[in-house]
Amino acid sequence: MNRVLRISPGDRFLECEAGITNAEVQRACAAHGLFWAPDPTSAEYSTVGGNLACNAGGPRAVKYGTARDNVLGLRAIAGTGQSLRTGTATTKGAVGYDLTRLLVGSEGTLAVITHAILKLLPLPSHRRTLRAGFTGVDEAAAAVAAVMTQPHIPCALEFMDQAAVGLACGYRDVGVEAAVGALLILEVDGDAEMVERSEQALAETLRASPGLVELKTAATAEEAQLLWTARKALSPALRQLAPLKVNEDVVVPVTRIPELVRGLQTLSAEFAIPIVNFGHAGNGNLHVNLLLDPAERRQADALEPCLAAVFRLVLSLEGSLSGEHGVGLAKRPYVAWEIDTPTLDAMRAIKQLLDPAGILNPGKVLPAA
Ligand SMILES: Cc1cc2nc3c(=O)[nH]c(=O)nc-3n(C[C@H](O)[C@H](O)[C@H](O)COP(=O)(O)OP(=O)(O)OC[C@H]3O[C@@H](n4cnc5c(N)ncnc54)[C@H](O)[C@@H]3O)c2cc1C
Repeated sequence: MNRVLRISPGDRFLECEAGITNAEVQRACAAHGLFWAPDPTSAEYSTVGGNLACNAGGPRAVKYGTARDNVLGLRAIAGTGQSLRTGTATTKGAVGYDLTRLLVGSEGTLAVITHAILKLLPLPSHRRTLRAGFTGVDEAAAAVAAVMTQPHIPCALEFMDQAAVGLACGYRDVGVEAAVGALLILEVDGDAEMVERSEQALAETLRASPGLVELKTAATAEEAQLLWTARKALSPALRQLAPLKVNEDVVVPVTRIPELVRGLQTLSAEFAIPIVNFGHAGNGNLHVNLLLDPAERRQADALEPCLAAVFRLVLSLEGSLSGEHGVGLAKRPYVAWEIDTPTLDAMRAIKQLLDPAGILNPGKVLPAA
């Protein structure tokens, strides 16, 4: 179940079995000057089936979208045992209900995806990476909204708060100035001319943003890689700070990020639980990491109320509980806070239709009626 079945560069699609890893798909496409947009950090070991099931994304989702935006069709086996063929091999299609988009992100609760036709994009010939340090999270978060307001869309717009910057620099010294209270990593891609223009436009926007402490463009590919290595090491590095890391991947409209970050700081103080934030700010998708020692009774007792307060904050900002990791078991108790009863009932009816015996990932995603 891990084969590429065909690549059609002229149609810009790749058909594969669902057990192939994301990285293997990227290698197969790259040989034709193409790529598949979803780029989760887990690319080396996560599969196309898993990427589709969780609607995975990554840094470049800000420009190219997530798995859902980059799949044309699927083959899947429903819980009934029926074989489903959804979508088309074309980039347009207007026949029937969009079951492809229904299955993507359903976390394996409706059908097991066996095959996928993935939409491919041309590999950009050039890219440039910038980093922008700000006095604090408010200023950096406001700059994210400013960047997303101007017309040049970066292919990555990542955010790190001060604790995350400290961790990243501890992993690899990327030379960030001491006065930096929050950092943005931005990347632009395209042909040489486009990259030049986009970099200038972003730099102009960042320079005009209050609280800018430093703005640097990586001089070489190695320097850019160093920055990304430090960013991608953040998640494992957090484990050094506390025995337990609870990682949520909430998402809010980009312009509400300043309110989210301020609210998280307030909750961190209120519950006395350190919270470290970083993530895909261009999508408003932040990895909110609650760090604690479960052996310490006070912190252990505060975890659930703190988490609940984080989710209430996110929903009050028109956000969603998860931007890319999905619901699984852990967030299931909170789903009814986000989705109203009639809509949940419609989802339960779909589940009942496709998986009447409830054999596919039982107990996941939808809360009990
Ligand atoms: C270190 C690390 C970094 C990560 N970085 C990112 C990131 O940047 N962006 C991001 O979006 N996610 C990220 N993730 C989360 C995760 O890797 C992704 O969600 C990935 O898409 C899961 O794919 P998998 O093959 O590992 O699936 P699994 O973990 O095996 O399964 C995930 C879910 O999908 C279901 N599933 C798996 N295959 C199928 C199938 N063929 N048909 C139907 N259902 C299926 C499973 O039942 C399960 O519910 C990260 C995870 C780790 C550990």
